[in-house]
Amino acid sequence: MSTISHFINGELVTSPNEPTLPVINPADESTVGEVLLGRRETVNDALRSAEAAYPEWSKTTPVKRARILFEFRALLIKERDTLAHIVTEEHGKVLDDARGSVARGIELVEYLCGMPALLRGSYSQNVGSEVDCMTIREPLGVCVGVSPFNFPVMVPVWLFASAIAFGNTFILKPSEQDPSAPLFLAQLFKQAGLPDGVFNVVHGDKETVDALITSPIVKAVSAVASTPVAKHIYETAISHGKRAHTFGGAKNHCVVMPDADMDKAADALLGSAFGAAGERCMAVSVALAVTDSVGDALVERLKAKVPELKIGPGHKADVDMGPLISEAHKTRVVNYIAKGVDEGATLVIDGRELTINQGKGFFLGGCLFDHVTPQMTIYQEEIFGPVLCVVRVPDLTTAIDLINNHRYGNGTSIFTQSGGCARQFADAIEVGMVGINVPIPVPIAHHSFGGWKQSMFGDVALHGDASMQFYTRAKSITLRWPQQKAFDTGFFMPTHQDD
Ligand code: NAD
Repeated sequence: MSTISHFINGELVTSPNEPTLPVINPADESTVGEVLLGRRETVNDALRSAEAAYPEWSKTTPVKRARILFEFRALLIKERDTLAHIVTEEHGKVLDDARGSVARGIELVEYLCGMPALLRGSYSQNVGSEVDCMTIREPLGVCVGVSPFNFPVMVPVWLFASAIAFGNTFILKPSEQDPSAPLFLAQLFKQAGLPDGVFNVVHGDKETVDALITSPIVKAVSAVASTPVAKHIYETAISHGKRAHTFGGAKNHCVVMPDADMDKAADALLGSAFGAAGERCMAVSVALAVTDSVGDALVERLKAKVPELKIGPGHKADVDMGPLISEAHKTRVVNYIAKGVDEGATLVIDGRELTINQGKGFFLGGCLFDHVTPQMTIYQEEIFGPVLCVVRVPDLTTAIDLINNHRYGNGTSIFTQSGGCARQFADAIEVGMVGINVPIPVPIAHHSFGGWKQSMFGDVALHGDASMQFYTRAKSITLRWPQQKAFDTGFFMPTHQDD
């Protein structure tokens, strides 16, 4: 059985005394390896390594840092398929989807290659008599990132590449459920020329996370997790004096207006609700049908399409949806479905009876609920599985009110042909990422990524200028260099003798 090591100071590190957890391929339940759960000594080694690497890395010129990012980008492109296969083996999502998620990581690295321009600061001349003022951005020090299981390449890259590009050193605590891809990323970054100690990976669980985020060495903490965990990490980090931002769970609504193209809207709902088996923070899990006739039209189309989803191991060709991440998570989703039935929703398509792959793997068929009401548990809580709830509302204002009153505010979208409705929606909606005729509105690397309400804790999001603001701090320097009027030595030709 292979041990999935830590990566500290540029080396793979194992510790014989640490507990381990099996990493399971969710498509066939085979054991991929045993991941170490980092304890105090390993955490301290990683902290020392990141602390020691910081002075030199923070003083490395932005252009030299950018050259390493260019190399890293080239290696990511070269190894894109290997990374996608690792993701599929440990997470279960289909290969094309895994490749797409790696591509979204690469896009951020491409954006960061232009980081010297972001760091150029600002300068004001003559703010007083012979006085100028400039503002520069400096890195923070050792930063920590905690990542979730559902994007084992994209989310870690978003965190560590940004922090490192802006001159910080970093310790990543990946999800213990699919830890191999981040380890491979660390090796690629080293191969690209990143000095040892700048990027470290420590595997583990809550104990590992708590040891990292309370350490006095750590200056900033980023995390992407379920809302209770995101809240815990945020509150613990800030109470220990760190800068922090954490990204939590979601319940993303898609509004379908009567003027929308119903076929396109149904297809968009299908891909966005059931892609990656619904295990995406930007998956649509609620369709808000504006009027009953829209509800009928959508349910009629989805009722025909959901049973046709091709479900199977993610590495097989022509599969639409892989398994859920674990037996425990499948049980959790199945319990939500039972609760939906108990609370009176209409289960139009029941995916619970699906049996494929000789009963091996944590597969669940797509599930479609109609006549869901806002009071029901399946409406209130994040299910994070292949379950779409249709809620019928009389008008756009009711749809907007429902979304704004929901505790989560990660993503939302509207399908309409009316510019007026789209504008009203975008203006009034209290959600961080909004799509107009786009079902999964994940912003590109140069626009900010982050939800509102219980979907994000902290002020500054990810990506673009936001990452630069989070991973650096401003220093304003006011300068007075009075002009010299005379020189004693006279070894040069004075030009203003009358001054
Ligand atoms: P999770 O909360 O179980 O775990 C996330 C990370 O936190 C893991 O590394 C885990 O080891 C660690 N962790 C777990 N419990 C902890 C605790 N008590 N204290 C400290 N650390 C702890 O989440 P998950 O199941 O891996 O990922 C799915 C969740 O992440 C979903 O809720 C999803 O919506 C959310 N997510 C959000 C975004 C976003 O951008 N908002 C993106 C991706 C995933």
